[in-house]
Amino acid sequence: MTPEQPLTGIRGCVIDAPEYGKLRSWRDGAVVFGGGRIVEVGDFQHLGKKPRQQPVRWLHNEHAAIFPGLIDVHTHLPQYPVVARGRGQLLDWLHHSIFPREKAFTGPPGQREAGAFFPELARHGTTTAMIYAAIYEDSCDAAFRAAEKSGLRIVMGKMMMDVGTYGTMQPRKVLSVSMLESERLCRHWHGRNDGLIEYAFSPRFALACSEKLMREAAAMAGQFGCYIQTHLAETREECERVRHLFPAMKDYTDVYEKCGLVGSKSVFGHCIHLSERERAAMSAAGAKVAHCPTANIYLSSGIMPLAEHRAAGLKVGLGTDVAAGPELNLWQVMRSVIESQKMRGFYEPGVQVPTPAHALHLATQGGAEVLGKSDQMGTFDIGKDADITVMDIGAMLPYRGSATKPDELSPEDVLSLCVYRGGPHAVLETFVRGRSVYRSASPELF
Ligand SMILES: [Zn+2]
Repeated sequence: MTPEQPLTGIRGCVIDAPEYGKLRSWRDGAVVFGGGRIVEVGDFQHLGKKPRQQPVRWLHNEHAAIFPGLIDVHTHLPQYPVVARGRGQLLDWLHHSIFPREKAFTGPPGQREAGAFFPELARHGTTTAMIYAAIYEDSCDAAFRAAEKSGLRIVMGKMMMDVGTYGTMQPRKVLSVSMLESERLCRHWHGRNDGLIEYAFSPRFALACSEKLMREAAAMAGQFGCYIQTHLAETREECERVRHLFPAMKDYTDVYEKCGLVGSKSVFGHCIHLSERERAAMSAAGAKVAHCPTANIYLSSGIMPLAEHRAAGLKVGLGTDVAAGPELNLWQVMRSVIESQKMRGFYEPGVQVPTPAHALHLATQGGAEVLGKSDQMGTFDIGKDADITVMDIGAMLPYRGSATKPDELSPEDVLSLCVYRGGPHAVLETFVRGRSVYRSASPELF
């Protein structure tokens, strides 16, 4: 940071969760940033009076709750318009509700719609997202252009599938074209916008990909230093079909291991039905887990054993997984993390039920760890990027706070309110690297 760079300070209830299950907070706190980075965090009474060379532009709002930007590590851009639609479990739902939708996600309509997704993420307080596009190069390229314009931090890739794909291409050509298009998108977009945009090779899952495609995708991701994202052990029916399709492999994870897909830049969605061996193998490889409880409940897939995965050393972040999940709202995913483990506990003895502090960690620092970026984002540690979500406490209180005053609430109360009643109606402003990417029209704004 140079001395001339202006500083911005936001005053409010500042909350982050550097450790799993522990909050760090300042009730009348402030976060000061400049040059895109966090430069100070602490009590407003101290920071507000501190003498400095540069003036601070203060944004005051007595009803603001200030969090590290929310991180969504699993979602599907083309599926968003069909949320809360269709029925049945994963495989039927994919064929009847999702593939027809993704199939149409090309040409001018698909390209136009791709652009609308990113402002929507910012409106929900999301600053970073890991995304699957459809199988088409044109709409994925349009999505990257929109992502760059939005200023959000985006990891994305074109969906890859060469078995039972919804595309119209000759089957024997699908693999080579999918590889070629993925490589072209990767070469063009990986590392763009000062590193805010990155590429993820995205084979859909073992039932939709040949071994050859999975091996080539893994090799190319390694060559370019990109991410890999795919789905793993979401439903029992899927696991059973994988077992029949790959009889020589030890289990579902082994299919991905043999293809070279299991590594430290690999993010696996769901991971509900894993054996001890699979959990240990993933942990040893440094592979990451995207936990998507709203989606898992919607499709009756199961409840991921969260404490068991974490105890095995797996890094876990949260995903909205639209359109299996009904919203891009990570607060509701945090609520679902808590409630799904609570419900599991009704039938299984000894289940550890997470608190809002655990859930916030997963949606911020946990997501940062999943993407290997915990030195850049996830908390308000000084020097990290100023990725910030500002919530309006009044907008979440009954009667807009006329019965319960926001200043009567402790930081724990404020977080709980966000987890149980948070959403885009209460997001005041969203910042990525100190730049505003969404501003509410609310009169409550600074
Ligand atoms: Zn998914």
